[in-house]
Amino acid sequence: MREILHVQGGQCGNQIGSKFWEVICDEHGVDPTGRYNADGSSSHLQLERINVYYNEASGGRYVPRAVLMDLEPGTMDSIRAGPYGQIFRPDNFVFGQSGAGNNWAKGHYTEGAELIDAVLDVVRKEAENCDCLQGFQVCHSLGGGTGSGMGTLLISKIREEYPDRMMMTFSVFPSPKVSDTVVEPYNATLSVHQLVENADECMVLDNEALYDICFRTLKLTTPSFGDLNHLISATMSGVTCCLRFPGQLNSDLRKLAVNLIPFPRLHFFMVGFAPLTSRGSQNYISLTVPELTQQMWDAKNMMCAADPRNGRYLTASAMFRGKMSTKEVDEQMINVQNKNSSYFVEWIPNNVKSSVCDIPPKGLRMSSTFVGNSTSIQEMFRRVSEQFTAMFRRKAFLHWYTGEGMDEMEFTEAESNMNDLVAEYQQYQDATVEEDGEYEDEEGEEEYES
Ligand code: GDP
Repeated sequence: MREILHVQGGQCGNQIGSKFWEVICDEHGVDPTGRYNADGSSSHLQLERINVYYNEASGGRYVPRAVLMDLEPGTMDSIRAGPYGQIFRPDNFVFGQSGAGNNWAKGHYTEGAELIDAVLDVVRKEAENCDCLQGFQVCHSLGGGTGSGMGTLLISKIREEYPDRMMMTFSVFPSPKVSDTVVEPYNATLSVHQLVENADECMVLDNEALYDICFRTLKLTTPSFGDLNHLISATMSGVTCCLRFPGQLNSDLRKLAVNLIPFPRLHFFMVGFAPLTSRGSQNYISLTVPELTQQMWDAKNMMCAADPRNGRYLTASAMFRGKMSTKEVDEQMINVQNKNSSYFVEWIPNNVKSSVCDIPPKGLRMSSTFVGNSTSIQEMFRRVSEQFTAMFRRKAFLHWYTGEGMDEMEFTEAESNMNDLVAEYQQYQDATVEEDGEYEDEEGEEEYES
């Protein structure tokens, strides 16, 4: 078995993480007490790879391989009191009382550093229980203090202790449209600096895009976190489907990375989902394979506020779910690529993969999830970078961070690392292959001999 260990941190991380568990418990037939209830003909599929995410406890109960951490008890208290609160192992709730006050420095250096060993103890215990751990997945927001600061501290500690295991994150990027505080661009930039170096693959969940989908497509006039998180949990279920159910494509974290990451720093993915539904409305929607394909590639369905048509795809993967013809899926996917060939870098042949999983998400007959490595994601990084720079130029709010012992230098380094990342995306967006096989940039100057 190739197990994944899930960690969720901070308010956002715990909220989206617990929704993820509700959704996948439902898909695998696990009830809130951890018992398995067979779901007709698909039962072997539900159980075949259940050990990827669940431990089997005595009495045949399935227990999420999940660690929950926070610097304040509130969010975790609500999870414990919620519908699936009893399914988690009680020892795996690790929390403090101080809070992080939306301050990355508190999460990463002061308050978080005090609690991190307690979290690592639980992580170690879970890891020791595994037959052959493939890696970790972390759910967190980048705009606050705990998920962001302490989340990235944990990621770096895990990397130190498990250097050959994969690290995937579900990272929620901040947007002023949904924001609590003005310092979020600071926290996010400091986090990206860490994620570039210490994570293998990051699924980008951008509150700006999630808000726009709720407002424009789903016509919700005042979207709540619950509405945003409904989109996130559907996406997380779709992204992890290939890891949880039997199949060929991207069946573990490393294969996913191998297919999608041509250059190690460029591991931030745009994810898309179709059909988009609001809470409670899903039963009315039914789509054909061509419609799913069309929507899945549409900028409006991306959970990241960037338009793929402003960049090019280095790679992409699509996972269709439900009963449908694999042949039709392949035809539709080829069709999209042929009609839009200029949006795919020609120097990575066959850079789009697709597959079909028989089991649809609950409440839908069919769905599809898209994971793309698009150079257009730089638009989102530019947005955060501009917000960062506007404040940093005047050193606004810096005392909150230096007061926790941080050096201004770390801000400067984080800023340049993110700007470098943007430049790297641009470089590969402009890169072309000439027919003689020489690799040239847009101006036609030769960069490398082939
Ligand atoms: P932490 O507890 O210190 O990690 O702080 P938060 O998780 O509250 O981080 C604040 C950021 O997360 C802001 O950008 C919020 O908009 C965002 N956020 C907080 N809760 C949620 C949530 O449930 N869903 C989503 N999508 N974003 C959230």
